[in-house]
Amino acid sequence: MHELQVTERILNVVLQHTKGHDVTRVVRIHLRIGELSDLEDEWIQHYFEYIARDTLAANAELAITRAPIVVSCAACSRTFEIKRDDLGEAKCPDCGEGKLDLVSGREYLVENMEVM
Ligand SMILES: [Zn+2]
Repeated sequence: MHELQVTERILNVVLQHTKGHDVTRVVRIHLRIGELSDLEDEWIQHYFEYIARDTLAANAELAITRAPIVVSCAACSRTFEIKRDDLGEAKCPDCGEGKLDLVSGREYLVENMEVM
């Protein structure tokens, strides 16, 4: 399962960050997930609770921010944000080029965490 693998990676990153620090437990984890990613918030939270249950991150709350989809124009290199629904039809607002490269929108990363 895709969500499970992603959640394991997130947990690993979190636990790595607690090493060498005097952490009793991880309270909240701020995640940034691209809008294009098909990860569902509730599934991530669900898997996380399961795999983190015996770690410092047990019961940590996941605060998920959706990151916008950013593309860059293949012709003039302008970068701009677009909505997921507009992806198929999108054209560069400057030059009208239809060939766009994805800059971000699929990423998932741990931005920040709160510990005790
Ligand atoms: Zn352009």
